[in-house]
Amino acid sequence: MFCRNCGSEVQGFAAACMKCGCNPHTGNAFCPNCGAHVNENQVVCVKCGSALNSQVRPTNSTSKKDRVTAGVLALLLGGLGIHQFYLGNTVSGILHILIVVFTCGMGGIVSFIEGIIYLSKSDAEFEEIYVKNKRGWF
Ligand SMILES: [Zn+2]
Ligand SMILES: [Zn+2]
Repeated sequence: MFCRNCGSEVQGFAAACMKCGCNPHTGNAFCPNCGAHVNENQVVCVKCGSALNSQVRPTNSTSKKDRVTAGVLALLLGGLGIHQFYLGNTVSGILHILIVVFTCGMGGIVSFIEGIIYLSKSDAEFEEIYVKNKRGWF
């Protein structure tokens, strides 16, 4: 790629441009794809057509629970209720552990089914049901 600050060629994984010393991924003076000089207000490079929006976007995903992560946790570690803890449902998580203990492991099937349900839902459905309403069961 090309440094977005000075336009010199840098390795894509480089944390700093060796020519100007800046983070080559931040800045808006040059196209990262072809190195052409671009205007800071440009959305795409007029020379190569690549998007120029690689600026660090404001992230609000820190509190967002990831559906796939919860689903995989439920499938792999379901018996331990880890996915419920991950979703912030501490009580449900503890109940999962108790059920598994009292059923000698059979209760793990509940979590396994939950994991499959999580993965079959859309992100919006998942967010609505399990993150906003904190539904602890299925
Ligand atoms: Zn540079
Ligand atoms: Zn370009």
